[in-house]
Amino acid sequence: MTNENLSAEAERAIEEIEDKNVDFLRLQFTDILGTVKNVSVPADQAEKAFTEGIYFDGSSIEGFVRIQESDMRLKPDPETFAVLPWRNTEEHASARLICDVINTSTGEPFEGDPRYVLKQALERAEALGYTVNAAPEPEFFLFEEDEDGRATTETSDFGGYFDLAPKDLASDVRRDIIYGLESMDFEIEASHHEVAQGQHEINFEYDDALTTADNVSTFRTVVRAIAAQHDLHATFMPKPIPRINGSGMHTHISLFTENGENAFHDGDDEFDLSETAKQFIAGILEHAPALAAVTNPTVNSYKRLVPGYEAPVYVAWSDRNRSALIRKPAARVPAASRIEARFPDPSCNPYLAFAALIHAGLDGIERGLECDDPVRENIYDFDEEKREEYGIDTLPANLGQALDALEQDEVVQDALGEHVYPKFVEAKTQEYDEFRVDVSDWELDRYLEKF
Ligand code: GLU
Ligand code: MG
Repeated sequence: MTNENLSAEAERAIEEIEDKNVDFLRLQFTDILGTVKNVSVPADQAEKAFTEGIYFDGSSIEGFVRIQESDMRLKPDPETFAVLPWRNTEEHASARLICDVINTSTGEPFEGDPRYVLKQALERAEALGYTVNAAPEPEFFLFEEDEDGRATTETSDFGGYFDLAPKDLASDVRRDIIYGLESMDFEIEASHHEVAQGQHEINFEYDDALTTADNVSTFRTVVRAIAAQHDLHATFMPKPIPRINGSGMHTHISLFTENGENAFHDGDDEFDLSETAKQFIAGILEHAPALAAVTNPTVNSYKRLVPGYEAPVYVAWSDRNRSALIRKPAARVPAASRIEARFPDPSCNPYLAFAALIHAGLDGIERGLECDDPVRENIYDFDEEKREEYGIDTLPANLGQALDALEQDEVVQDALGEHVYPKFVEAKTQEYDEFRVDVSDWELDRYLEKF
């Protein structure tokens, strides 16, 4: 029996549900902070989910709605159907579907849904004639669990950059993570041990920015779930161990024209970058302090953005060095020309972070902003005088400064939209205030006996 209200993709998903013995569907979406939420429904509800959607109470989700307007509807995107690798046997499987959130009183997309916020950014790009591709490089640590199954900061290995077994004991775990991701249709490009002990990176193929944001969200869930099967805790916290490298989520971005050409490529340019790409870079550099509140949204994010650990601190771009905020990676073919924003970290909400980056870059294009020359020297080595001479600003030093910058930047505020912006600032200001009143171990070590 076919239901004429079902799209072709929805029908295909329903076939897969039957073929793969899926019993439960997890309908997923994220809150403003990027945490994945899910409502589980028996698989026989699939048709209803695709045609009518599933109702839920949005008042208990961070940053969603006020109590009196709490009814929300989840509308699953059938193209995101994927069987969960850690809940998959011959007879029983669970699958997930990523959903758009609909406001039941208007029937329109809910403005507070981060996926909608990103869709708005892509619409603006489209109005200017562009589609947006993105590829992230999420880094993470694998830590031992204690006897009670709680995360520690003991690393599970002592390997270093690109180390191989036997030092890189975690490569078995990484392999299982990759199998899991591949079973969910991820195309894995490379994986390696990162610089710090216990630190890893797995890169997946670029895609349109919406699919990539969905993928980041899925990636974090899969990495954590499969690490847990090995009794390890995977963390995307930006700086879990002081004084060694932290974890970034460098984000590669390119714009394509309607004819399928890479709008960032210009073979005649010294850096192979088009004027459009340079304006996009200039837009990101101009809005960087406010963007940081979104791309680096935790107190801990700013412990990573310090000199000396391959994370950017300075608002500049470069065609080669890693101390800059934006880098132009070498591209083998014109289609691969792109820019790499090096400041985002994996504690961000990928939908909001990509939306903010895209709006900032498009602002640069719309205003025809000019980009300074790239900085080729190691900016970590510059003193303040030299930075002033080059006109190089620094990123906010903490979440409080980033939130202040956000309150001054209408472009980034508009990127988040009227619903998300105030809720985001409220949640993050509270987080920063809680941190400010706390007294850390460092302070006790330093001052308790001294004064
Ligand atoms: N872990 C570094 C960071 O925090 C980046 C290392 C690399 O270049 O991959 O951004
Ligand atoms: Mg890396």
